[in-house]
Amino acid sequence: MSLTVQLETPTGGKYEQPIGLFINNEWVKGVDGKTFETTNPATEEVITSVHEATEKDVDIAVAAARKAFEGEWRRVTPEDRGKLLVKLGDLFDKNADLLASVESLDNGKAISMAKVDVALCAGVLRYYGGWADKIEGKTLDLNPDTFAYIRKEPVGVCGQIIPWNFPLLMWAWKIGPAIATGNVVVIKTAEQTPLSALVAANLTKEAGFPPGVINVISGFGKIAGAALSSHMDVDKIAFTGSTVVGRTILKAAAGSNLKKVTLELGGKSPNIVFDDADIDNAISWVNFGIFFNHGQCCCAGSRIYVQEGIYDKFVQRFKERAQKNVVGDPFAKDTFQGPQVSKVQFDRIMNYIKEGKDAGATVEIGGNRKGDKGYFIEPTIFSNVTENMKIVQEEIFGPVCSISKFKTKEEVIKIGNNTTYGLAAAVHTKDLNTAIEVSNALRAGTVWVNAYNVLHHQMPFGGFKESGIGRELGEAALENYTQTKSVCIRLGDALFG
Ligand code: ADP
Repeated sequence: MSLTVQLETPTGGKYEQPIGLFINNEWVKGVDGKTFETTNPATEEVITSVHEATEKDVDIAVAAARKAFEGEWRRVTPEDRGKLLVKLGDLFDKNADLLASVESLDNGKAISMAKVDVALCAGVLRYYGGWADKIEGKTLDLNPDTFAYIRKEPVGVCGQIIPWNFPLLMWAWKIGPAIATGNVVVIKTAEQTPLSALVAANLTKEAGFPPGVINVISGFGKIAGAALSSHMDVDKIAFTGSTVVGRTILKAAAGSNLKKVTLELGGKSPNIVFDDADIDNAISWVNFGIFFNHGQCCCAGSRIYVQEGIYDKFVQRFKERAQKNVVGDPFAKDTFQGPQVSKVQFDRIMNYIKEGKDAGATVEIGGNRKGDKGYFIEPTIFSNVTENMKIVQEEIFGPVCSISKFKTKEEVIKIGNNTTYGLAAAVHTKDLNTAIEVSNALRAGTVWVNAYNVLHHQMPFGGFKESGIGRELGEAALENYTQTKSVCIRLGDALFG
């Protein structure tokens, strides 16, 4: 199989899709000669096959990254690192139509949303470009005879493992802070969505990154992902994905070289609406909170709690709003919700819906597959749920939510926190005291007030409890990619003669 194929997308036109492994700024085949298919979830048809990285390719990519880290990359000034990131961000803007089209084709997300993702990628890459020459240490005067300084040094070779729900955005979130701080990366995409990152890899070369600094490989979690996370020459793993795999990665790090680990994992986030909320505003954010990206968001507001005074009215109007979400062809201009990413995810979600029905919850709307081709699922709202039901406790990662009634602030804080997760939450109220009191009491890494899913590259994102370790975005992400070195200089005479 060659290293590129000609593909066509409904809005991006014909283009050359790279399908190799991007190592050392070169396109190569996997050592074992393996390939795997990627499917268009809207049609269930195979788009193309890509070359698969196995353990041997991970070794080659890590060696290339190590060589770059010890060699040419070290001599690139922070200012120039910043310029490279800014240039890469600009290339995302320049190639926005193509990148968004490839993203929609491979992942199934609505093209309008894919375009937003690409703009966010450009923003985050430029943001971290701005940070590159602002990574500063400190000087310390310990005593008249001793002077010390603290350096913030890069961690080294970073393995980055990303999921399929935001293939490009997670790529940019990971690469931005790693590169700004002087690291090198081997990034493995999710097996469901390899294509857009390979197009982006070409842009890194065009931007002028030296060979080996950014390596992009396609492959399976249990093979290439496991090889990266247990590799003895990988200094750090940054992972976004399920909590189950997060635990595996932590174990692999513990069982190998104790590499640093940051994890951005699952969630079961509460979205809380008080009686005094602006109901139209709340409904629109609650709808966006769960159905955006087809519910395939780790921070999805999947548990909705509405105060008793407006509960009945809210349910009725939320149903009407959700039924207006346009579900269908990702490339149609008005589509809000496309297909789920894969048959596996589709089946998982349909199983959860069945669980909910069997457990006695009421299906207010949805609950079915939509159409007979593609992995489309109707927006689904369950009411009459109890806190111990699986659909209320487990992450569904689809367009499915539960809605229930609460009486008091104290009660909703307690049930809001009644989960092993702690990624995000939201509060809808016009009362400032309620907003602040509840936001402070919720054990979550992000709390939105009168909003949902508002993410920004300046604002740290990550989880409390089992939703993760470390923060992405903002200045906070730089911490994950630097290590502190103390240099202590003795100025006076020898102490011990
Ligand atoms: P999902 O269940 O939503 O598909 P995963 O957590 O399985 O999410 O996948 C997220 C990323 O983790 C993907 O890139 C996948 O290949 C990778 N992955 C899956 N299993 C492992 C593993 N055992 N070790 C390392 N990476 C893995």
